[in-house]
Amino acid sequence: MKFDILTLFPDMINQACSHSIVSRGIDSGLISVNAVNPRDYTKDKHKKVDDTPYGGGAGMVLMCQPYFDCFDAIEKSDDTEVILLSPQGGTFNQHMSIELAKKSHIILICGHYEGFDERIKLYTRAREVSIGDFVLTGGELPAMCIVDSVSRNIDGFLGKIDSAHFDSFSDGLLEYPQYTKPREYGGYKVPDVLLNGNHQEIALWRRKQQLLVTYKKRRDLFEKFAKNCDNKTDLKLLNEVISEFK
Ligand code: SAM
Repeated sequence: MKFDILTLFPDMINQACSHSIVSRGIDSGLISVNAVNPRDYTKDKHKKVDDTPYGGGAGMVLMCQPYFDCFDAIEKSDDTEVILLSPQGGTFNQHMSIELAKKSHIILICGHYEGFDERIKLYTRAREVSIGDFVLTGGELPAMCIVDSVSRNIDGFLGKIDSAHFDSFSDGLLEYPQYTKPREYGGYKVPDVLLNGNHQEIALWRRKQQLLVTYKKRRDLFEKFAKNCDNKTDLKLLNEVISEFK
């Protein structure tokens, strides 16, 4: 998977990619992350990339020329996905992340200041993606959220692919509670079921916990899951959860 990121602040991307699991993914060759700076493509002698908005108003707007030329310089294929980071886009989620992980090339276009000249969106035919209903100063952190999350869904990126399969949202539910050593700490004990070695019992307990946690924390997800559920064991467990809360 190749990520090309158009950004005026490539150091923010390079820094974020130099730690932990993302850095390991780059070292192993499973992903590559390439930050390109539209400022390097400006034809303006002062390396200007933004200007005041037509019609007046506060702030600076990113200009077409450096972004068009920087975008053109990136090699693309039929499998290239172009994403423009914007608070106005569709909200990024786990489903989108899993779909994007099937691609071989993603271009992420980061805005800054007041955002893009509208024609940059038209020229690049980008899909606008937001990471939530709030406004950040730039698209670099959202771009890194996408790089990080999509990479986790690439086979082999995580030590055990299972650790992504059971993550929250992967099957529409939140993850079950996790515990590690010691068995007791500060008066808090690990549930007995996790210590008895009975894998079937543990799997059942975890599934019920997933339903319970989702019911308590994200009723919207629980209801969506319940509506589409046709698995006998899940149906039994979700009815138990509902009746326990009546
Ligand atoms: N004036 C723009 C608006 O109101 O829609 C906001 C511009 S914002 C200050 C600057 C840049 O940060 C945007 O062009 C975008 O690339 C990025 N950005 C800010 N919030 C974001 C979010 N929630 N999701 C994705 N990108 C975001």
